[in-house]
Amino acid sequence: MAASPLTATGSAIFSKKCELGGSISSSSPSLVAHRCRKHSLNKILAVMAPSRTPQRPPSTTGSVKHAMTMTEKILARASERSQLEPGENVWVNVDVLMTHDVCGPGTIGIFKREFGENAKVWDREKIVIIPDHYIFTSDERANRNVDILRDFCLEQNIKYFYDIKDLGNFKANPDYKGVCHVALAQEGHCRPGEVLLGTDSHTCNAGAFGQFSSGIGNTDAGFVMGTGKLLLKVPPTLRFILDGEMPSYLLAKDLILQIIGEITVAGATYKSMEFLGSTVESLSMEERMTLCNMVVEAGGKNGVVPADKTTFKYLEDKTSVEYQPVYSDENARFIQDYKFDVSKLEPLVAKPHSPDNRALARECKDVKIDRVYIGSCTGGKTEDFMAAAKVFLASGKKVKVPTFLVPATQKVWVDLYGLPVAGSGGKTCSQIFEEAGCDTPTSPSCGACLGGPRDTYARMNEPQVCVSTTNRNFHGRMGHKDGQIYLASPYTAAASALTGFVTDPREFLQ
Ligand code: SF4
Repeated sequence: MAASPLTATGSAIFSKKCELGGSISSSSPSLVAHRCRKHSLNKILAVMAPSRTPQRPPSTTGSVKHAMTMTEKILARASERSQLEPGENVWVNVDVLMTHDVCGPGTIGIFKREFGENAKVWDREKIVIIPDHYIFTSDERANRNVDILRDFCLEQNIKYFYDIKDLGNFKANPDYKGVCHVALAQEGHCRPGEVLLGTDSHTCNAGAFGQFSSGIGNTDAGFVMGTGKLLLKVPPTLRFILDGEMPSYLLAKDLILQIIGEITVAGATYKSMEFLGSTVESLSMEERMTLCNMVVEAGGKNGVVPADKTTFKYLEDKTSVEYQPVYSDENARFIQDYKFDVSKLEPLVAKPHSPDNRALARECKDVKIDRVYIGSCTGGKTEDFMAAAKVFLASGKKVKVPTFLVPATQKVWVDLYGLPVAGSGGKTCSQIFEEAGCDTPTSPSCGACLGGPRDTYARMNEPQVCVSTTNRNFHGRMGHKDGQIYLASPYTAAASALTGFVTDPREFLQ
C-alpha cells in the first residue's frame, strides 16, 4: 500500500481504499470528516494542522478593508473595487482575450452580429488569436476556420495573430506557434495580477503565473471582443498546500492527478484553486502550468500559483509589459485546505474514462497497452519531453508500442532538436527518441489530444488502449469512442512505452 501522504498534525485514520489521498481540513481548526466518493463507507478523519502563514508581501490593491485571496484581489483590481466577496457578480476589465481556430470563427460571428459588420474590436493589442487545434489536416472545414481567423485579423489589424499558411511545412511559418496555452506563456501574454480569458477550458493553464485565467464560451468572448469587459461571479478559493521534497520519479502531473482523485471531477466546481507550499515553490514554470492546466478537470474556475522569483525569471525575456503581482492576505478566507506530503506520493494514472479515476501506476501493471502519446498543453512542453527522454536514456531499451510525440509549440520542437538532455553526453531528445524507436516528433499542434479530423496525426481510429500525457480521458476524446486512455506523467508514459504495459517509472529511474 502507498505510504500515507497525510501531513496534518494530530491523529489520522485512513481507510485502505482512500489511502492515496492527502489530508483534508476545513478552514477552521476542527475535526472534519471527508467522504471518499468512490468508497462512501470509508472515511478519512483528519485533525487539521494550524494554517500555514504565507510569507507574502502586503496587498497591492490599495485600501483593503478586509482580507482577500489572490483571486479575489485580482478580480477586485480588475473591477476597480477595493474589496469584494465570493459570490458577488462584478464587471471585470479584461487584460487579454484569447481565441483559436475551433472557437474563433463562432466568437467573431457573435461579435459581428451584436456589434455590427463594421465594428472594431475593443483593443487590437489585447486580443490574441492562435490557430492550434485542427491544423495539419486536409479537412476543408478545419482549414476554412483558419482562413476566417486570418481575414478577421487582417480586417481588425490584430497585433498578435500566430498564423499558419503553409500546412506542408510548419517551419516555413515563423509566426506559427502551436498549442495556445503554451504559446501564451512563451510569448509573454501570461502576467501576474492580470485577467486572461480564453475560449478554451484549459485557459486556466496561465494561473501558473499568478494570473486570473479562465475559459469562457463564444458568446462571452464575442462580448469581450467588443467591450473588453465581462460580468464574472467571484469564486471562493480552495487552498492546496503541497510540502515535502518531490521524489525524483514524480512530476507535476502526478500531483494534479493526486488532487483530482482526492476531490473528484466536481470537487472544485466554480471555485478557485490556489497552490502553495515548498513543493510548489520548487516547481519550474512548466511544471506549475501542468498543475494549473488541469484544475478545470476538477471543475475549478481557475487555479493560481503565487508569483515568485521563478515566475519573474521566466518572464524576463518574454514581456516588457509592466505587471503587478498580488498575493493572498494572511487572514484571507479559504473555504477548505488540503495538505499533501509530496515525499510520500507515488506515480499515478487516471484510468478510463474520468480524470478522477485515480490509481497507482504499479497497480495497473497488468494493463496491456497499444500505444503511447506524449503531447498537448498539459504534457507536450520541453520539460515533458526531457522527462520522457530521461526514462528512455536510463533504460537503454526500445519501445514496445508505437510512441507518438507531438510538441506543443514550434519552440518546443526546436528544443527537442537543439537542447542536450542532462546526463546524456550531449544527446538531444530527438536523438534519444530515435534510438528508443519512437515516432519522429511531428508538427506542433493539439494533434490527437482532442481527436480531431480523421487524418489527424496519431488520432486513435481504433478502440485501442493508450497511455497519454494529455488531460482528458473521456469516451472518444482521442478519436475512437471505445478507446481507453490512461492519463499519466511523461515519466510513466515513457516507462509504459518500454514495456507495453502501464508501468511505474521507478522500474527504470531507480
Ligand atoms: S492540447 Fe488538448 S487540451 Fe490543450 S488546448 Fe489543445 S485540445 Fe485542448
